[in-house]
Amino acid sequence: MGLPGELGLLKLEQPWHAGERLLQGKQGTVHTSDEMGPRIYHKVIPESYRDMVGPQPHFMVSFFDPDANACWSSLVFARPGFADCETSDGTHIDVAAALDPRDAAAVAGMMKPGIMVGAVAIDFMTRRRNRFNGVISHVDQNGHFSIRITQAFGNCPKYITRRRVQRMGENLEFVTEPVMEASEIGALEQSIITSADNMYFGTGTAEHGADMNIRGGSPGFVRVLHSGSTICWPDYTGNGFYMSLGNVQLQKNASLVFVDWDATGHGVQVAGSVHTIERSEVVDTEMLKVLEEEPQALRLVVMSVHGLRSIPRYSPHVYEKVELSPYNPRAQGSGPEYLAVLQWVRQESQEVRTFELQLAPLPKPGSVVLKPEQHVRLALPALQGKEASPPERTWTVTSSPQWFADHARFQISVKLKHGGLASTWLHQLSREEMKSANIHFLGFSGEFGPQLDPSSGELRSQVSMPRHSVFLTAGIGSTPAVAALAALVESAPRPETLTIFSSVREISELAFLQRLAEAGRTLAQLSVSYRAVILLTGSDSANEMKKLEMMLKQNSISSVQVEAGRLSTKLLTDYLPEAMQVSENIEAFLCGPAGFESAARDAWTAAGFPSSAIRSESFAY
Ligand SMILES: Cc1cc2nc3c(=O)[nH]c(=O)nc-3n(C[C@H](O)[C@H](O)[C@H](O)COP(=O)(O)OP(=O)(O)OC[C@H]3O[C@@H](n4cnc5c(N)ncnc54)[C@H](O)[C@@H]3O)c2cc1C
Repeated sequence: MGLPGELGLLKLEQPWHAGERLLQGKQGTVHTSDEMGPRIYHKVIPESYRDMVGPQPHFMVSFFDPDANACWSSLVFARPGFADCETSDGTHIDVAAALDPRDAAAVAGMMKPGIMVGAVAIDFMTRRRNRFNGVISHVDQNGHFSIRITQAFGNCPKYITRRRVQRMGENLEFVTEPVMEASEIGALEQSIITSADNMYFGTGTAEHGADMNIRGGSPGFVRVLHSGSTICWPDYTGNGFYMSLGNVQLQKNASLVFVDWDATGHGVQVAGSVHTIERSEVVDTEMLKVLEEEPQALRLVVMSVHGLRSIPRYSPHVYEKVELSPYNPRAQGSGPEYLAVLQWVRQESQEVRTFELQLAPLPKPGSVVLKPEQHVRLALPALQGKEASPPERTWTVTSSPQWFADHARFQISVKLKHGGLASTWLHQLSREEMKSANIHFLGFSGEFGPQLDPSSGELRSQVSMPRHSVFLTAGIGSTPAVAALAALVESAPRPETLTIFSSVREISELAFLQRLAEAGRTLAQLSVSYRAVILLTGSDSANEMKKLEMMLKQNSISSVQVEAGRLSTKLLTDYLPEAMQVSENIEAFLCGPAGFESAARDAWTAAGFPSSAIRSESFAY
């Protein structure tokens, strides 16, 4: 048996194998995969990923034994800090916890050096997820183990339900309640599987190693068919790389693990053989019904169940659901009640337009509530020939709920994404088309900003508000800062200081200068010390900086400053000297493209601020 890293999988210039290529070809993502592949793969865990592994009380691992062609997906639970990749400089993850002895992989003797593993660390609250593939390199007498890393890569926050640990398991001794083994799915297991909003999918091949990833959606997205012998789920749009489904094109034995996160902690591990069926090739009547209910499924993924283990109290922790992913296709039957009728549009910059929308019919008082700093989910009309079902997208609400007493009116600010379906459609609508554009309102959600408590989603009290709020934003990632400004100008709670860093390449991309400046005047009267810092990062930034400074001077705007160059540790320490003294009383809101996000994290921690103070939101998949 060879080890994956040694077999050339990680030749960075071409990381994709034939199975992945097959699906990339079908989906038309070969080009982007080629472009992105070498950029996303790391041979050791990069520093900017390491901080999020330790704080999790759970770690998801799939085991693949190439000799037996066997695969099991497992979950390891313990106190935060048990999984560590800091001490080995990212070459290993050391897991100071053992698998539950009742776990299928433990029973199958897969916890031993040489077994291929895929792992995923997920911070449910922030939806950050990083994946690590490698090989078990060491197991001690307590069952604690180390994984030698061959691949590490970040992954999108899409389809991840936000959850928090409501009660951390106190006695982490394994329970001895017996496990039920079966070859088909029983009633209890079926109810756990079909009410799940996430599951973990382990795959592997002898040549390319193991892989583990989350699959998520609205509860009910996983179906049990054929009297319990088949599990079926829709394949939604993802990053288009097809790492897991690519593996099953080459080697079909795969595994799933489900947990009843929010109640009993019951675990269900399933092993079976997996294949994919394109929409046009589905003939089975039960699967045709799934397709009907899942218009956004690109294809179906089908597992013929070979065996399962049903494990009482698998998770010692009890979690609590906070919010489903704004990317989830709508659950069946939750049809939209309101149209969102476009009222007017304003050009903010070359590529950003603000749209005001009004719900129709007018909701009954209190039936639709918009909290500050939230985003809205809208379904646009099906665009002929582009996407079979109405595209659903999410946009930050950049108006304040208090601007419109009935919460039935709101604004979004949309950047034109070249080649993007929804933003192009919105930007191209003529004034006449706007009123009759058939846009459906799917709801407000989220709590990304200083006013809402991230754990309850409710308005914070002034006392629980950190003294310093900092926005680290780039490009259209500045909309949450604009939303927060709208909220903070209207009402308390407010931080003592608010600093917004907003990076753009050039002035023509700067969308919200007026709003940044106007907020300065009002916040000064409200005793909030406020500063917005525009970072010009393009090649002509020195000239652009002079131009913008002149503009600000002419308009007597003193709360907005300009800098040339990217966000750096020096800039953070220069602009946040008071905050450096009270680093436990600071909160940063990070939003921008992936490259910016990781550079900003590095700059933030290098400046001495705690990485735990960062809350981030991603607009990308
Ligand atoms: C919380 C949040 C807040 C956001 N706020 C803003 C904002 O304030 N301003 C702004 O301009 N953008 C914002 N976005 C991004 C926005 O949702 C769109 O992605 C963006 O406008 C581009 O959309 P598009 O259709 O033009 O591009 P596309 O490339 O066509 O699609 C964009 C995204 O939708 C996904 N997608 C495409 N088809 C499907 C499908 N069938 N099912 C599921 N996903 C699919 C794509 O994978 C891609 O991730 C936000 C996103 C999130 C999650």
